[in-house]
Amino acid sequence: MTIVRNSLVFILFGFTSVLSAGAAETLKIASFSTVLTEIAQEVGGTHVDVAGLVKPGQDPHEYQPSPSDLKEAGEAKLVLLSGKHLEHYLDKVQEATGGKAEAVAVGDSLPTLKLKAAPDEPEAKAAADPNGMIDDPHWWNSVSNVEKATNIVRDVLIKLNPADRGDYEKNANAYLAKLDTLNKWAKRKVAELPRDKRKLVTSHDAFQYLAKDYGFKIYAIEGVSTETEPSNRHVAELIDTIKSQQVKAIFLESTLNPKVSREITRESGAKIGGTLYADGLGAGDGMTYEGMVRHNISTIVDALK
Ligand SMILES: [Zn+2]
Repeated sequence: MTIVRNSLVFILFGFTSVLSAGAAETLKIASFSTVLTEIAQEVGGTHVDVAGLVKPGQDPHEYQPSPSDLKEAGEAKLVLLSGKHLEHYLDKVQEATGGKAEAVAVGDSLPTLKLKAAPDEPEAKAAADPNGMIDDPHWWNSVSNVEKATNIVRDVLIKLNPADRGDYEKNANAYLAKLDTLNKWAKRKVAELPRDKRKLVTSHDAFQYLAKDYGFKIYAIEGVSTETEPSNRHVAELIDTIKSQQVKAIFLESTLNPKVSREITRESGAKIGGTLYADGLGAGDGMTYEGMVRHNISTIVDALK
């Protein structure tokens, strides 16, 4: 107990002395992505004050900014967005900032995979190209995309606050080294699974970027968003696929109702392999990006073996 008390006093004391040192003004950031919130905190360190407006465990497809979220965005110097059309409330954010904040849709600068738009989903349809395809917004499920996102956040922080460049570069390098270790671990873990067993059946089509990095084939139960229920025909097709491909397990997601997935396991004989974090950080293991990836990869590989 004594040790705990002593370290707490030290932390408080250390914090006070940082404040009184009168360093450059902290940069206020509003983030609409749980993954970007972590990146901004890691890279910005003590130079930033990050308001994570989409919270871990919240479904970003259904999220709508509250009046207090818009107030936070209005006070920020930098607004971080996932991009790839995930934020369907962009007009509200723009109105809140009045064009005064730097707004960066990080995903828009990352490689894009395409998805078939769900036919009964008006928002997805509005963003679809003439072939009915939309940009897959789930870029954070690729570690190498998160490495690229870290570089983007580092560069915009340097642009907004060049005096703290050295710290941003040092922090970004430390975080990038962690991501590199994580990616190497994930590749070794996936290598435990023979290629013909890398078949991923999930509740909504959120793991294309992960699948591309690690050689999985995806069979999704829903379209891109969590807002639609799958059709009976789609469910029947999936049950056939699971049987013919001899898929051992399917996966639930932390932000979704598992009813349909359970029906599919009952009909197909596959087991529930576990719950995955599809839409960003979440409670439990998924409170950090590293924890989220380790949980997802371990759950997938161990269930499909
Ligand atoms: Zn999603």
